[in-house]
Amino acid sequence: MKEKRKDKDKKRGKLYSIIFTIVFLVIVGAIIGVYIWQNNKQTEENEDEIAYTDLIQKISNGEVEKIEMTVGSTSIKVKLKDIEEEKTASVPNTQAFIELIQEEVKNNNQFELKQNKQNPLLTVGSTFFSVLPTLLIVALFILIFKMQGLGDKGKVYGGEEDNDTGVTFKDVAGLDEEKNELIEIVDFLKSPEKFHEIGAKIPKGILLCGKPGTGKTLIAKAIAGEAGVPFITMSGSEFIEMFAGLGASRVRKLFEKAKKISPCIVFIDEIDAIGSRRTSGSGGESENNQTLNQLLVEMDGFETDETVIVLAATNRPEMLDKALLRPGRFDRRITIAAPDLHGREEILKIHSQNKKFEKDIDLKEIAGDTAGFTGAELANVLNEAAIIAARSHRKKISKNDIEEAVKKVTVGLEKHSRVISEKDKKLTAYHEAGHAIVSKFLPTQQDVKEVSIIPRGVAGGYTMYKTNEDKYYISKTEMEEKLIALLGGRAAEKLALDDISTGASNDIEVATQIARDMVTVYGMSDKIGPISLKTDEPYEMQPFGDHIGDNIGEEVKKLIDTAYYQAQQILSQHMDKLDAVANALLEKEIISAEEFQRFFE
Ligand code: ADP
Ligand code: ZN
Repeated sequence: MKEKRKDKDKKRGKLYSIIFTIVFLVIVGAIIGVYIWQNNKQTEENEDEIAYTDLIQKISNGEVEKIEMTVGSTSIKVKLKDIEEEKTASVPNTQAFIELIQEEVKNNNQFELKQNKQNPLLTVGSTFFSVLPTLLIVALFILIFKMQGLGDKGKVYGGEEDNDTGVTFKDVAGLDEEKNELIEIVDFLKSPEKFHEIGAKIPKGILLCGKPGTGKTLIAKAIAGEAGVPFITMSGSEFIEMFAGLGASRVRKLFEKAKKISPCIVFIDEIDAIGSRRTSGSGGESENNQTLNQLLVEMDGFETDETVIVLAATNRPEMLDKALLRPGRFDRRITIAAPDLHGREEILKIHSQNKKFEKDIDLKEIAGDTAGFTGAELANVLNEAAIIAARSHRKKISKNDIEEAVKKVTVGLEKHSRVISEKDKKLTAYHEAGHAIVSKFLPTQQDVKEVSIIPRGVAGGYTMYKTNEDKYYISKTEMEEKLIALLGGRAAEKLALDDISTGASNDIEVATQIARDMVTVYGMSDKIGPISLKTDEPYEMQPFGDHIGDNIGEEVKKLIDTAYYQAQQILSQHMDKLDAVANALLEKEIISAEEFQRFFE
């Protein structure tokens, strides 16, 4: 039923937008046509036209016999004394022109000024032209607002509404502590009177922090599902598009709707898009401010007996305006981390429910191989594996399918069709061999699982490492060695081919980020010490003065330079291995963990 209504709305929406587009195009077409026509007319008449300054000159010289003009038109007819046919001229400002020649008319009785009444048709024409720009703009606005209004029916304005999410806590794997924390919200939504009677205050706003795909939306939906209340959702990025004031009005509409259907859950995804720190800037930023201010007003506005709970998701809580986090607003924060080993297994269990597997598949093993994966990525792995199996006409998902799917999710799809020159291949081979060999000599780094020069996604090749148990802490040494491993690719290119390529750009990006975090987040630089320097905050807002910025750069550079030097050291001591692995890669394109190990026996 609901689907059908949505479909109908969609169709009607399409029809409207087509009609509006046609009307709009016709108006624009007409205007362009008229302008071209006018221009042509003017150029045709050009030979007979007298320039304005010439005209003035001629009038004061007494050469003009008669001037005929029409009210409202800047085009006038001029009859000169010594020429038979009439000429035309155009005056920039009729009123000023008449005033200018008034004297002449009085003094020179031979000079005649004839003022015609306006041609009614022309009146319409000129009025039309004078209001045309306004009309156009109005039409454009109507068009845009209509189009938005259309979205309104399904989405946009009041947010997307779902009366029954069909999701419960059972569908959310792991996250037991988080679920426990949120259970009270469910109770509150179910029987708010119980809480009011005793005077208990329930948070209005809860901030869910975590990487994309960690299940923030899922858990918010599950709260609605558990409590049996509607779920209204809107993404922060939807608030900031389009025109000034629209974002704020959408926020207002969203809350209007929520109050009307309360008890309910409002979920604002990507709240950082509107909720980042207010600035005194203009344009997009001030639009942002209006939206944020409206959100603050709404958060303060609804009373506790309006049973509306606002959940907001972000991956960058530190970016949020402090005002959003004050009591009575988003004063409760729940951080959702990527799942641990057990959590991953649970998530895999949930998403393998409707899939068939070969007997030797062990979800625990897959969980072990996917450290750092989010719930969304795990779901994706199983889905990709199913697709791979189906494509090769198998009824069950095999171990191989899973492995292939893991690779696909981490590094992208294999691209056999891409044509690669021998030179590029050689470069990639040395680059990947460089990573693999450098890591081999770094005690904290994982063992190599696979090295390949088959392009995948945007990568020309890849070096995969075995994953170990989940770790909660990473030591400084480990981070330093990670930098060395990352720069091993670039170092190998330089040593073996005495040239460097763009292929290392991602390595460099990752390495720089790690080095920066070491200095500014983890306090691992001796020079700066254990001080947190949030790099997204302007330096002037930090209590350490301007020069700290230079110091950060210096310290980051030192870390990177040292790592690059050490990568080169390791490789130049093992040039024979580098050549051997690179050559093997050129020959076979892919090397397994065992094959790689054999180079060192
Ligand atoms: P976020 O809102 O944090 O970006 P989502 O809630 O949209 O992430 O998660 C995307 C998908 O990933 C979910 O629809 C679900 O299929 C899967 N997923 C994520 N976390 C979990 C989890 N803990 N249990 C089960 N599935 C999960
Ligand atoms: Zn690399």
